[in-house]
Amino acid sequence: MPDILQRLQSIGQHIEAAESKARRASGSVQLLAVSKTKPAQDVATAYRYGQRRFGESYLQEALHKQRALACFAIEWHFIGPIQSNKTRPIAEHFSWVHSVDRLKIAKRLSEQRPAHLSPLNICLQVNISDEASKSGFKLDELAEMVTAVEDMPNLRLRGVMAIPQPNADPASQGIPYRRLHQAVTALNNPRLDTFSFGMTGDLNAAIAEGSTIVRIGTALFGPRSTSTAT
Ligand SMILES: *Cc1c(COP(=O)(O)O)cnc(C)c1O
Repeated sequence: MPDILQRLQSIGQHIEAAESKARRASGSVQLLAVSKTKPAQDVATAYRYGQRRFGESYLQEALHKQRALACFAIEWHFIGPIQSNKTRPIAEHFSWVHSVDRLKIAKRLSEQRPAHLSPLNICLQVNISDEASKSGFKLDELAEMVTAVEDMPNLRLRGVMAIPQPNADPASQGIPYRRLHQAVTALNNPRLDTFSFGMTGDLNAAIAEGSTIVRIGTALFGPRSTSTAT
């Protein structure tokens, strides 16, 4: 059993140190605890220690955990790949979606967001590694996508999410984030206040380049065995 309290504290300290090093305000970076493949029990433990935001990548697994943890005031974020025939339960059961990578997905989420819920917070996923296999908008499509999505009725466009190609070199990890941050800043759109940048392996670089939400799984819940969940 990993010591989730100790890890939460150490990640919190790590984030604060990175904020300070980047001369950013303390508290400007939020921790999203990525609980994919981990049992509801681990989520409950982190919740008990004060963590409220959790990220999931696999819809069925997420819905199962949400039912098990229904009595907790958790803010659920969907961060995984989205099939267009699965948008309805995502629109119904999450507060945030970081992985909006096609216009069609945004349209469906807006149409399917229940009227009694507040607008769904979304980030546009941008492909900053130019890999054909990775999902996400291209950087040069970003302005057009912001315009297309920002007035959709049941969505609240918040910013961008990126998953760069794995890169173990701390000195160059920040480069793709910097390009995307600059592109968003150039749009000068006050709605875009969220940069969902950074995972366990590139937390410092992401915070140095303006991350406002880091998505941390391994450093908090320990290594994942290869997942077969969908
Ligand atoms: C799994 C996952 C994470 C967490 O990655 P770690 O390296 O375990 O911190 C973050 N973002 C996305 C989109 C993921 O799928």
